[in-house]
Amino acid sequence: MNFTIQNVLIPQAEGYATVDVEIEGDRISGIASHLEVVGTAVDGQNKLLLPGFINAHTHSSEMWHRGLIPMLPLELWLAALYDITPLDPEQVYLSALGTAVETILSGGTSVVDHLVLIPGKELETIAAAVKAYREIGIRAFVAPLVQDESFAAGVPSGGSEKNYAAYFRSTAATLELIETAVKQFHRPDEGVYILVAPTGIQLSTDALFEGCIELSERYDLCRHSHLLETLAQQLLAQEKYGCSAVEHLKEIGYLSHKTSLAHCVWLNDSDIEILAQTQSTVVHNPLSNLRLGSGIAPILKYRQAGVNVTFGCDGASSNDSQDLLEAIKIGSILHNTTDRDYHHWITPLQAVEMASKGGAIGLNLGDELGAIAVGQKADLVLYNLTNLSLLPRTDPIGLLILGRPTQVVHSVWIDGKQIVADGKVKTINVDGLRQELFSRSQWYNNLQFPSVSPMEERYRTVMGLPDKSSV
Ligand SMILES: [Zn+2]
Repeated sequence: MNFTIQNVLIPQAEGYATVDVEIEGDRISGIASHLEVVGTAVDGQNKLLLPGFINAHTHSSEMWHRGLIPMLPLELWLAALYDITPLDPEQVYLSALGTAVETILSGGTSVVDHLVLIPGKELETIAAAVKAYREIGIRAFVAPLVQDESFAAGVPSGGSEKNYAAYFRSTAATLELIETAVKQFHRPDEGVYILVAPTGIQLSTDALFEGCIELSERYDLCRHSHLLETLAQQLLAQEKYGCSAVEHLKEIGYLSHKTSLAHCVWLNDSDIEILAQTQSTVVHNPLSNLRLGSGIAPILKYRQAGVNVTFGCDGASSNDSQDLLEAIKIGSILHNTTDRDYHHWITPLQAVEMASKGGAIGLNLGDELGAIAVGQKADLVLYNLTNLSLLPRTDPIGLLILGRPTQVVHSVWIDGKQIVADGKVKTINVDGLRQELFSRSQWYNNLQFPSVSPMEERYRTVMGLPDKSSV
């Protein structure tokens, strides 16, 4: 589809310009103050055009239990999550749709879904998510979440004997599964990408990481992983490798310009230097870091060291939403408390660049995605500046990022195709989705999570917390 957005506000290095933006096919073909209309004319008056943001880390199926899991740190929260993880691919399909809708209506045009796989139905899980993302038309980076160590191995032993059951699927079978997924679903030309994505050092052997590196090279795939989300993981890395997790991942070759790493809360200065050298991307998930008490990632230090940083919502059971504008706001201003030199603080325009171009760079698409420039992919979001939450008229990006914008997305195009018009998603039936989410769920009353309690004693000991019985 060809179209021309007329008289629209776009940001510049300093201030704003009012321009026409012409789109031919899937790319921006012209930007000037007055252009001959190509294709459909779109009224951009009193609207702001930005490149689409990238929700650079989430787990879509967590949507089913948002707001439900008690206040727990990651390691115990995960035990609770395992008790309630959806086991039906149809649920995965619906929560992928829901995640995409919320991402798009908060300014996102891409999602990185670190997808939790249903045991025994792994390919069906991936197929369900891919089906949803294709239907709605979001640019989808599906990263099947894999591990090859059992859940108990993810908590430091604190010197006690490590005697964990083997994981139910072998490393070789897991790698075979990823390769099959790549062959079946990896279609970059159609906006669907498969990533290699071990869940993290806490539950993955070197053999799994090395196999993923090999697949990433053979099929030109991006790499994803959680990294040092919690203090417990930092302790575990020392137990496991005798060095930091970052040093170890560098050693085995996992870090690269096409590697994005979720969280990166517990890194030291030399780790940060390694991320800069290897051109790895940090995905900052401020809301889940706060919700799980994981800590505040040293984002200003990353930026000063030249590390590319972008934002994610993380799964909706640890956030508990998929509102990218909210994640970007908190992920920017949170760090003003960590550095008194306000020249280092993230400006609203920098936050927009991190969320768009920063995300694209982390997915090895920095040359063609994430900016409003001729030749870039037409993944665009048009914001309605007459919405009450963006009034009175001040600085549009300042208010979009620092304010509390509600229902401000007017139109969205992804790969040049219109996904949202007049604030409504056009490609799927959102009301039908709403009804499905309602009818397939329930209000819980004092739900119990039996897997948490057996983990607590070791966790509290290792983390230096008082004995459970004494509190
Ligand atoms: Zn995550």
